[in-house]
Amino acid sequence: MTVDIHQPYDDNNIFARIIRGEIPCKKVFENDQVLAFHDINPQAPVHILVIPKGRYVSWDDFSEKASDTEIAALTRAVGQISRDPALNNGYRLIVNCGHDADQLVPHLHIHILSGKELGAKLIQL
Ligand code: AMP
Repeated sequence: MTVDIHQPYDDNNIFARIIRGEIPCKKVFENDQVLAFHDINPQAPVHILVIPKGRYVSWDDFSEKASDTEIAALTRAVGQISRDPALNNGYRLIVNCGHDADQLVPHLHIHILSGKELGAKLIQL
């Protein structure tokens, strides 16, 4: 089911459970504000999800309510992860927000895709 971005945050969503350590993930990065892990159903040789640890449903929610510290932390984490040599040839960032974008998990996440020529700019995730 796609995400209704107007609904309150659901503390039982799968990424909230990953942050709490209730569900395992293949972690690639973590600090106080941010967690990043491999997507369970990768759409490219490199497919990483970067999430804030705070309770934000979507980009809309995050950009309105997150602190400058949280916003800077997420931005810098994406940059740091993307500087890995495996992404040297380029990468694509995707954020799906709400029903029309087919957002499925109601916790903001940035997709980092890399490791091959990604082709058309709009891809089905
Ligand atoms: P979106 O459609 O933008 O909401 O993308 C959700 C992404 O979360 C999809 O690419 C899923 O493959 C991924 N995903 C769902 N559950 C897990 C999980 N337990 N661990 C890692 N990735 C997941």
